[in-house]
Formats: sequence, structure tokens, C-alpha cells
Amino acid sequence: MRLLAPVLLAMVLSACTLLGHQKVPGWPQLAIVEHYVSNTEMRERCAKYVGFGMSPAACAEFNFAANRCDLWFSADFPPTRGILEHERLHCQGYDHVGGSTLQAILQRYRSSTRLAGRFGGENDDRGQRKDAQLDVGEVVRQER
Ligand SMILES: [Zn+2]
Repeated sequence: MRLLAPVLLAMVLSACTLLGHQKVPGWPQLAIVEHYVSNTEMRERCAKYVGFGMSPAACAEFNFAANRCDLWFSADFPPTRGILEHERLHCQGYDHVGGSTLQAILQRYRSSTRLAGRFGGENDDRGQRKDAQLDVGEVVRQER
């Protein structure tokens, strides 16, 4: 299993060079928190964000209410520098080329908080919602 890791990581890296150069407009500044957990835990956390037949390599969880972006990496197969930078860019609001995942996530968050009066001058922290945590996963395509 360990022998497979460099190959898988290389695949992710090549897939992950395709980040767009444009930030999602209005993306808030989020504190980046990086977690290194066992490969099993990373997969459990990230698998729900990737499609069937795909294996997660890392994922980013956005929590706009807390102004936080959590990155989940495997401590057993540490991420390459490219993956690290890629995930950090997601936290800063950069989506994949041609992708609109992050924009959709931000829009969903905005519409979910509009009714709660988030922009009405109230303390933002009191308006935290569990469903504000939305995510993007990195995947390794296992089969074509
Ligand atoms: Zn990505």
C-alpha cells in the first residue's frame, strides 16, 4: 500500500495544477487550520465530498460563520507542497478552472444567513449555523 502513495500523490498533483486565477468575488478572509490525521480518518472525513469510485487525497471545509477553513490531510501519506498550496488556495477562494463549486458554496451560505439578519449589525458569532459548513474534496480518479 505504501508503495502506491507516490503514484497517487503525483496524480493528485497533476490534477491540482488546474486552479483558476480568479478568486470568487466577495470571498471572505478565512483562518486556515491544517489537520494531519491518519489516512483512515482523512478518508472518512473527505470521502463524502467526492463521487463514487473516487478516492479523496485531501479536502477543505469552509466555515464562514466562524471565518475558518479546515484542511484535512493524511499524516500517513503527507501531502506534497503542491497539494498543500492548492488546498490553501481553496481556503482563499480559488476554485478549479471552469469550476463553480466555491461560488455555489458561498452563495448558499449567503442565502442561508440573509434571513437571520447576519448583515444587520448583530453579532455574527451568534448566528452560527451548522449547515454553514460546506466543503470541497480533492479526488484521485481510480477508474476511468
Ligand atoms: Zn482542488
